[in-house]
Amino acid sequence: MTTLPDARRDELAASLAEVRERIARACRTAGRDPGAATLVAITKTYPASDVDILASLGVTEVGENKDQEAAAKAAVVTAPLRWHFVGQLQRNKAKSVVTYADVVESVDSLRLATALDTASERLRERPLDVLIQVSIDGDVSRGGASIADVPGLAAHVGTCGRLRLGGVMAVAPRDWEPARAFDVLADVASRLRADHPDATVISAGMSNDLEAAVARGATHVRIGTSLLGMRNPLR
Ligand SMILES: *Cc1c(COP(=O)(O)O)cnc(C)c1O
Repeated sequence: MTTLPDARRDELAASLAEVRERIARACRTAGRDPGAATLVAITKTYPASDVDILASLGVTEVGENKDQEAAAKAAVVTAPLRWHFVGQLQRNKAKSVVTYADVVESVDSLRLATALDTASERLRERPLDVLIQVSIDGDVSRGGASIADVPGLAAHVGTCGRLRLGGVMAVAPRDWEPARAFDVLADVASRLRADHPDATVISAGMSNDLEAAVARGATHVRIGTSLLGMRNPLR
């Protein structure tokens, strides 16, 4: 089934209004400024035309989790967006990612940080913003650094001249209460800020748990399904 562009625009405008209202309400409930959490629209599996529509509706930050797909979309979307890379990243993709990404949220190893730094030195004019992805439950097979490794990784990023440490990112583990997961992340973030005062970003919260994340200080929420619709469950 194809959706006519105008119909899709109406659909996305409606879901965007709902998501923005959810974020604002969560901020107010937490006693935070209604604009305290920035929406990052996760557009994976959806076409570049949807990114264009979201940009025309005022979305300024978009996220993708696969290099090939992200590179193709970034090449055709002309709106001035901030592109976040949020997926597991192989070191050999660093050279590609640094050419279109403004933020890599999924830095979880010294070697990946080094690869991004080297590629940024060669291929970017401006430093690359990076977040350390934290594995809340220590199962690093799905990406993320264990909590114990965060200080060392942050210190290493600090020595990378072409990287700027923005803060932390995490996905709540499936079998954890989101509130508990985001409490742990908030604690990791505050310890990181003690050594790296500029690392103020907490990227946390997705379609199903954005309220819990905003209540625990998320500065960025990454929303796919609630904005764009259900994806293939394998993605
Ligand atoms: C897909 C994805 C999201 C968005 O998830 P939804 O549940 O669709 O909102 C957020 N963060 C990451 C890292 C993702 O891969």
